[in-house]
Amino acid sequence: MALIPSEPVDVVVVGGGLSGLVAARALQKAGRSVRLIEAAEELGGRMCRQRLPWGGQAPGEALAGGGSYPWVDLGGQWVGPTQTRFLALLDRHGIRRFASPHDGETVLVFGESRCSFAGFFQGFPEGQPPAVPSADWDDAMAALAHFQEQVAQLPDGHPHHHPAAAELDRLSFQDWIDAHTHTPFAAWYFAYFCRAVGFLGPAEPEQVSLLHVLWGQRTAAQGEQPEQELLHGGAGQLPALLAAELGEGVVRLDEPVRAVVQEQPHTEGDPARGQAGSPVQVHTDQTCYPCRAVIVAMPPALAGRLRFTPELPPDRLELQQQMAMGACAKVLVVYSRPWWRDQGLSGIAIGDRPWVELCADSSDPESGCGVLAAFVVGHRHQRWAALGALERKQAVLGDLAAYLGPKALEPLGYAEKDWPAVPFVGGAFSAWMPPGLWSRCGDALRRPHGRVFWAGTEVAERWPGFFEGAVRSGEEAALAVLKQLD
Ligand SMILES: Cc1cc2nc3c(=O)[nH]c(=O)nc-3n(C[C@H](O)[C@H](O)[C@H](O)COP(=O)(O)OP(=O)(O)OC[C@H]3O[C@@H](n4cnc5c(N)ncnc54)[C@H](O)[C@@H]3O)c2cc1C
Repeated sequence: MALIPSEPVDVVVVGGGLSGLVAARALQKAGRSVRLIEAAEELGGRMCRQRLPWGGQAPGEALAGGGSYPWVDLGGQWVGPTQTRFLALLDRHGIRRFASPHDGETVLVFGESRCSFAGFFQGFPEGQPPAVPSADWDDAMAALAHFQEQVAQLPDGHPHHHPAAAELDRLSFQDWIDAHTHTPFAAWYFAYFCRAVGFLGPAEPEQVSLLHVLWGQRTAAQGEQPEQELLHGGAGQLPALLAAELGEGVVRLDEPVRAVVQEQPHTEGDPARGQAGSPVQVHTDQTCYPCRAVIVAMPPALAGRLRFTPELPPDRLELQQQMAMGACAKVLVVYSRPWWRDQGLSGIAIGDRPWVELCADSSDPESGCGVLAAFVVGHRHQRWAALGALERKQAVLGDLAAYLGPKALEPLGYAEKDWPAVPFVGGAFSAWMPPGLWSRCGDALRRPHGRVFWAGTEVAERWPGFFEGAVRSGEEAALAVLKQLD
């Protein structure tokens, strides 16, 4: 079927997640005409929210206690103090923040033992240590000191040109764990870190490059508190606000891009070429969008589903084939109030339970409800996703009960998002590099392909995998395009 030609624009942005929206806005502010094409029916990608439905009461109705049912983020939700570009965006749109609730004790479950402690560790320990045998804790902390030394040796920016990069990239994180830990607890501590912390996939430690894990903490350090704050109304409110700034007629929804066709260099400048003299055409199933440059704003694995003419170079093709998306489901559970606080618990729980390795209190104080965010990641995710809906819910609630107590079994609302099953996202939190990929294909992450530029949180040199990385990569791709167009 012949494609219907659209009006030419300066730049087509492919992908309406945070990075694509930011890139489109930056180009528009610089006076360029833009079209943003999104495959899904809604904008936002990994940034999405919903009001939690529950039996008997319509979402949004007032609660008996005076509050109202909260918005919950099924994608990203937290923000930290050094994520400056994302914070600026929130401020510009008047999105208010509140401190992530963490008063009270953290629960740790390891094997048959359960303890609560006046501290926390999400990678790095804060406050009091948990009551695990000191030999276990000391083993984990000695390995952590070594880990931090290695992290500190990496340079700013992408890591693969560092002199030690090739050697670090040859190993998996499991190789490092085997070499540096001596107790099952310390080995689990780092495996948990790999699955649950920051942007490292989630990947299992045997899957991911040691260089990638070290770089993760170099560039998006847990010590910078990326989970310090939450947003009233949820992060998922932002895509619609950004789209409104773009104005009428800019965004096309529900239109997967299939191909990007560029004029071969030798035909550029030929007045007989392409649509209305435009050197690039972006094809969806119905329409051909002519333009002068394209920003592909999505993870490499998703870009791998597009056809490019001329073909991409071999290192970019390999990157798209091998840089896997994380395996993660996020589950939000709502209670009439944060009952765990009555027992002196913070609602943060960590442990080697069969399904949930991490949950955190995400209750907005203005709603009055109690909200727990729980994560099912890595191989646990694969087993969980194969269960039926009722079994999945029972699995998560059972683990929450083991952490926090039996009241966890009686929620008012429950929502889950199985991110690897989301058609145009394919996983969460982010993509990760297996051993060797940084060394072979690191340059291909950002190197433009003619008039095609790459954005998406995975491309960022600072805070990759986070909202902040998405904002930065969108801004930087827009700048690179502007340079080429000038
Ligand atoms: C469960 C979860 C928890 C997270 N927690 C946090 C957190 O607390 N804090 C934080 O900072 N970050 C967090 N993140 C990460 C954060 O959400 C992402 O880094 C960010 O939203 C990525 O934005 P992006 O634009 O790079 O990519 P995406 O959001 O993936 O956007 C890519 C877009 O491209 C579209 N697309 C794909 N293929 C096509 C095609 N062929 N044609 C057109 N469009 C296409 C997709 O539909 C999507 O909308 C979390 C993510 C998840 C999922």
